[in-house]
Amino acid sequence: MIFDFLKEHGLEPQRTKAVLFDMDGVLFDSMPNHVTAWKVSMARYGLSITDEQVYLNEGQTGFGTIAALIRQQFGREATDEECDLIYQAKCDVFNTCPTAPPMPGAREALEAIKAAGLKCVIVTGSGQQSLFDRLNETYPSIFTRELMVTAFDVRHGKPRPEPYLMGLRKAGVKADEAIVVENAPLGIQSGRAAGIFTVALNTGPLKDSLLYASGANVVYPNMPTFACLVSQRPEPRP
Ligand code: CA
Repeated sequence: MIFDFLKEHGLEPQRTKAVLFDMDGVLFDSMPNHVTAWKVSMARYGLSITDEQVYLNEGQTGFGTIAALIRQQFGREATDEECDLIYQAKCDVFNTCPTAPPMPGAREALEAIKAAGLKCVIVTGSGQQSLFDRLNETYPSIFTRELMVTAFDVRHGKPRPEPYLMGLRKAGVKADEAIVVENAPLGIQSGRAAGIFTVALNTGPLKDSLLYASGANVVYPNMPTFACLVSQRPEPRP
């Protein structure tokens, strides 16, 4: 269970009081929609973007991603107006995508962590108004509105430490009393910059080595693997 998992990684089970979860690519399988939206919208403006680039830039502002593509592919600086226009196109395509399904294994992991008495906190760069309702519908009785950090709560998003520091503050715990669960390089950097043990779930196409290079303390291939580690009970003794 979660306490065995913590011990295995040199953390003190009694000290750990909260788990800070990223949302896209961790609790919801929403990255395929972002990949589609980026590819379709960029193509309309003569730009191309690979799956890897979408995952690498996850957490970065849309403007930042577009400005980098224009610099790289058109050899010039982007204007604010065109970034605005192109980003709006990306959002329009994204909004036509089907609702992202829950990440397999996430419910089991959340329930096991909650049952062990730890707080579950959301730390996302997303700013959707309906975020809490969707979370609460999909994962009932796990999250509270008070224990959520969204785009509205921070000035400097991931990879800066502010989102995770805010998560710690909202949960009333210190950095060494929490762990982070992330999937993206910028999110991992944010968790580590906040001084927190960071578990990476490699739910995209990037290499594990890249997630380690971003600072991940440990990398697992997917959420079911993590769920199994935190929810399995010790074998009964014969
Ligand atoms: Ca993410």
